[in-house]
Amino acid sequence: MNIKVSIQNMEIEVAREIGLCFGIRRAIKLLTEAASEYGKVEILGPVAHNQRLVQQLHKAGVNMIASLEETTGKVVAIPTHGVGPDTVLQMEAHKLHIIDATCPIVKRAQLAAAKLAQADFTIIIFGEEEHSEVKGLLGWAQGKGMAALSMKQIIVHTQGNVIASEAKQSLLSSRLGVISQTTQSKASFTDFATQLVTTFMPKTAEIRIINTLCHAIQARLETATKLARKSQLVIVIGGHDSANTKRLAEACSSIVETHLVETAEEIAQSWLDGKHRIGITAGASTPDEAIQEVIAKLNSLA
Ligand code: SF4
Repeated sequence: MNIKVSIQNMEIEVAREIGLCFGIRRAIKLLTEAASEYGKVEILGPVAHNQRLVQQLHKAGVNMIASLEETTGKVVAIPTHGVGPDTVLQMEAHKLHIIDATCPIVKRAQLAAAKLAQADFTIIIFGEEEHSEVKGLLGWAQGKGMAALSMKQIIVHTQGNVIASEAKQSLLSSRLGVISQTTQSKASFTDFATQLVTTFMPKTAEIRIINTLCHAIQARLETATKLARKSQLVIVIGGHDSANTKRLAEACSSIVETHLVETAEEIAQSWLDGKHRIGITAGASTPDEAIQEVIAKLNSLA
């Protein structure tokens, strides 16, 4: 059940599925324990796309680095989005102590990519090519993968040099594996997979679709859209560069006026004019404190 708070003539309803997911809570625990044991930990990229979380971990002794070349210590962590196998091999070659904070759901997607590659499938990853999770999945696909969000992108990839020529041949004639970036929505992945089957089935001997979506994200999307339908305004809390937070905001904004904020300070009084039912939701990397601060700010503006 959603939590409701009534302030004067305003009702604030907080989505039941909200904020930090189990994968990020698990990573925070692993990283803070490692920092307290080893003094400091370096992490290959942000633990998740949320500035506040990055700063909180920095205070606890977890420092972000952009690449292995920047390492100054011996304890290095893999973030929740995971990395490709080449990076793991490099870490081992440098004799680093590895703290693997890859989310188990992302690990499952990596394993699916690796198995498909071993079985010589061409792998299509439904996701954003530049996202760190997708880059890692492409690594596990061992040169037989491509990332795309539309059929048009697949055609561009197969006409260019993005995948090896034998994989192109395989794509057109043989076996095709399809997985998704974990944080994509169920509706978009289903739509994409349906189009893919319709386009390639006459030429392709086998199409294997593996559901690698994250249930925590789907639950947040479903509860957020339900909440949007009964609200006059939705505030989505999370990092402006967080993919899952942006998807929550996109889903809610197709229903009702929606604003994405990273901090309570970003809320404008004018958004509340004439609004009596406000819905609140938050991305999977949003700390509880950020949610409490937004509620307190709405309380002060009501
Ligand atoms: S959103 Fe899902 S896949 Fe991503 S870290 Fe959280 S539980 Fe894991």
